[in-house]
Amino acid sequence: MELVNGPLGLLVLAALFAPLERWRPIHPRKLLRPGWQTDVAHFFLTHTLSQLSLVVAVGLVLYVVDPLRPGLVEHQPHWLQLPEAVLLLELVGYWCHRAFHEVPWLWRIHAVHHSSEHLDWLAALRVHPLDQTLTRATQFTVLSALGFPFQLTAGATLLLGLWAVFLHANVRARFGPLERLVATPAFHHWHHAHGRRGNYAGLLPWVDALFGTAIVEAGWPERHGADDPPRPTWWGHLTLARSNSHAVGLPQDKRFDPGG
Ligand SMILES: [Zn+2]
Ligand SMILES: [Zn+2]
Repeated sequence: MELVNGPLGLLVLAALFAPLERWRPIHPRKLLRPGWQTDVAHFFLTHTLSQLSLVVAVGLVLYVVDPLRPGLVEHQPHWLQLPEAVLLLELVGYWCHRAFHEVPWLWRIHAVHHSSEHLDWLAALRVHPLDQTLTRATQFTVLSALGFPFQLTAGATLLLGLWAVFLHANVRARFGPLERLVATPAFHHWHHAHGRRGNYAGLLPWVDALFGTAIVEAGWPERHGADDPPRPTWWGHLTLARSNSHAVGLPQDKRFDPGG
C-alpha cells in the first residue's frame, strides 16, 4: 500500500480500525497480539523500501512506455476513466496475485504476507517489498501503455490499498447481497485460510468467479497462515530466511500446502 509512512499514517489507520476491531471482532484478542512489532516494522521499513523501488520502476515504465501511448483514454471524461482504471488495476492485480501463489519463486516472496496467523488491519502491512513493486510496476505498465494519466492510476491504487487494509481487519462486517460486487473481510479472510487457494481479487469478487477461483463459504475460517513461512522477524521476512519451525505450534500432520 502506498500509505504515508510516518507515525501519523500509522496513527490514522489505528484510529480507524482499532475501534472497529474492538466493536465487532471475528476473533476477540488483545490489542497488541503476537507479532505486532514485526508488522509495525513493515509499516515503516518495508513501505519505505517499496516506495523507493517503485519510484525507480514506475519512472522507468513512464520513460519507456509514455512515448508509445496510443491515446485511447486521454480524451475520455474523468468519471469514465476512474472506473476503467479500477477495473484494469483489478484484472492485472488478480493475475499478479495468482502468479504469486502459483509460481514457486514468487510464492516464497508472497509467503511473507501469508505468514500472519493473526489476521487484522495491521497484518495487511506485512508484505515483502518486491511483492508490491512487481505488482505495481506491472499495473502501471499496462495502464500507462493504454494512456491512463499517471495521477489517476496513482490515486486509484491508493484507494485500492486502503480497501486492502480493511479486507484484513478482524471485523465481523458483512454487506449482504453487495458482497457479490465488492470484496469484504470475509472474502479476503478465506484467501488467507489454511490450505485454501482462491479469492485473489482485491475489490471485485466476481473477477474470481469469472476465472474459477472463488471460494464460496459461509462464516469465517478458523485458522490463517502458511506452511512454509520465513523467519518471523522483519529481517527474516526481507531476506526470505527459512524458518526452522514451520507452522509454529502445529503438529506435522496438521500442516498445509503452500499457497493457502
Ligand atoms: Zn495471497
Ligand atoms: Zn492479504
